[in-house]
Amino acid sequence: MTSEYKGVAVVTGASSGIGALYAERLARRGHDLILVARSRDRLQALAQRISDETGRAVEVVVADLGDAADLARVEAQLSRDASLTMLVNNAGFGTFAPLLESDVGRMEAMIRLNVIALMRLTYAVAPGMAARGRGAIINISSIVSIAPELLNGVYGGSKAFVHAFSTSLNHELAPKGIRVQAVLPGATATDFWATGGLPVEHLPEGITMQAADMVDAALSGFDLGEVITIPALPDIEEWNAFEAARRSMSARLSRSLPASRYGIVTN
Ligand code: NAP
Repeated sequence: MTSEYKGVAVVTGASSGIGALYAERLARRGHDLILVARSRDRLQALAQRISDETGRAVEVVVADLGDAADLARVEAQLSRDASLTMLVNNAGFGTFAPLLESDVGRMEAMIRLNVIALMRLTYAVAPGMAARGRGAIINISSIVSIAPELLNGVYGGSKAFVHAFSTSLNHELAPKGIRVQAVLPGATATDFWATGGLPVEHLPEGITMQAADMVDAALSGFDLGEVITIPALPDIEEWNAFEAARRSMSARLSRSLPASRYGIVTN
């Protein structure tokens, strides 16, 4: 056994990349695990390795979170589990195809996984965590949530949902003892890129982070109490200024009269 026992963490998309690293790091931090993805073999191999190395209990749940019946099965399991202390909503995929060249069915599947599954799993765990006054929800967003011009727009939109949803969840759930963090990785060296049609080796030099470094930085951000963590951003003051401008502006976004620049004469 490694650290003090910290309850059960669920990691979606744990069969590879960022999710597999979260699984390993969280076990070392003292969590038992529930690992969710479609690839049974990869999940079982990872579960075996992690439990051998850490002595933690690791359960494998094979599910296609884009499938309504599978998702409902996972939601039912998680909503009943009073030992849950953390949910890492990580499963997701992207694409580099421009809007007009991307298949709308594939775009909908992306929203089902990146948005609907993440939202429904959050609903499955949050009431129990709130009742217990303890828990953490880590949602993997992306830098495209604030820079949607960089990749496919539906992908950017899905990650903007994750960002905004997490900001609002934190606002509502922090007073109930639940930590919420949205992680905004930049390019990270995983299968994500090959799956999306652009092998990671084709990215410009100097912009790609190793997945282990990204996850370690994100967990440091979690320990620091960050709600939004941008592992690659060198100067946090840049983010703080952006966030301060947003918060200040939000007080002036809803008024009874249109702004004078529109020249509307009201009665
Ligand atoms: P990855 O290696 O391709 O991992 C994706 C994970 O999601 C896999 O474990 C995959 O497992 C699982 N998954 C995919 N479809 C699923 C489904 N329908 N149901 C259940 N699980 C499913 O890529 P990654 O980079 O680690 O991606 C993890 C998250 O990071 C994603 O949300 C991605 O958008 C985000 N992200 C990645 C980058 C990057 O540059 N890599 C940057 C920003 C954000 P199975 O195939 O076994 O189901």
